[in-house]
Amino acid sequence: SSTPVINFGAGPAKLPEEVLQEVQRELLYYGTTNISVMEMSHRSADYAVINDGTQQAVRDLLNIPDNYKILFMQGGGTGLFAAVPLNLMSETGCADYIVTGSWSAKAAKEAMKYGKVNMVVPKTDSYVDIPEQNTWILNPNASYVYYCANETVHGVEFPFIPDTQGIPLVADMSSNILSQPLDVSKFGVIFAGAQKNIGPAGVTLVIVREDLLGKAAVTCPTVLDFTVMAKDNSLHNTPPTFLIYVMGLVFKWIKRNGGAEGMKRMAKEKSGIIYDLISSSNNFYYCPVKSAVCSRMNIPFRIGGPNGNDDLEKEFLSGAQKLGMLQLKGHRSVGGIRASLYNAITVDNTKALAAYMKEFYQTHK
Ligand code: PMP
Repeated sequence: SSTPVINFGAGPAKLPEEVLQEVQRELLYYGTTNISVMEMSHRSADYAVINDGTQQAVRDLLNIPDNYKILFMQGGGTGLFAAVPLNLMSETGCADYIVTGSWSAKAAKEAMKYGKVNMVVPKTDSYVDIPEQNTWILNPNASYVYYCANETVHGVEFPFIPDTQGIPLVADMSSNILSQPLDVSKFGVIFAGAQKNIGPAGVTLVIVREDLLGKAAVTCPTVLDFTVMAKDNSLHNTPPTFLIYVMGLVFKWIKRNGGAEGMKRMAKEKSGIIYDLISSSNNFYYCPVKSAVCSRMNIPFRIGGPNGNDDLEKEFLSGAQKLGMLQLKGHRSVGGIRASLYNAITVDNTKALAAYMKEFYQTHK
């Protein structure tokens, strides 16, 4: 046994305790197989049930239309930064990138290896807003338009789906997938590393519209080729079987907890608790992100004013640690504090953080 903690990490992040208990119960002997999922052939009938069941579960949760394939890939979000241009860019040799934070900036940089990248919005280093859509410069010749739906480091989340005027839209949803219902039909490709909202690190969920298959560059590595993965039902080579199994259990947990709509309600309530507290603190807590694009998943903030006070922030983090509130340190590139409130974080967990923040404010303002 161990002391109860609350893990506010940005990813890998907290998994629902029920899911971890289920994994523990089944760890040595899965079902009637007498072996662990980790030891099971990916070609076995038992694994086929896991593979197909996990796909069906996410198809149901997000109402994914029949003309979309669901793939389980490797290489993380970063692998997809390359896979996206390698699969989609050869059509016209260029693509549009909407850069609103460090993850979309990394994706754009990777894409430049494979073709011409048009920056849709002006370059900025502060990443606290999303420029109005009517100021965007979209290239009508782009093979696709790329954006990151939730910037994990900067806490900038799109409150809308970009209008690309018919050009396939590609979204990195690594840090907000399944935190709300989604009209998948508006997208060409959606991808998400599992390690924040839907599972452990090491598997990436990819949802791809069928008409975008068959366009990969000849140099596209086989493991990154959507068409190959789709044709072979994510069984072209050995998939991360155990991770796909755990992700399937998380999908069932989401379903039991109200599905995508339930996750949305929770996300609104949880993020509201923290943002309300920040905005009533007279800038003692300071979140630089414009309120219209504030992330419901990752809340970065400074303590002691807009530029933060090092001593206060250190004290805040060590006090949190003592109370069992873990991984609240901001990303190394921005400093300060970051509270990540993914699906597995409960309203009560969030209230515990809010209570600590309130007390810290009252004793240090
Ligand atoms: N996209 C987003 C939005 C992320 O938050 C991250 C990781 N934190 C990545 C991509 C990169 O994912 P990975 O580390 O799995 O390559």
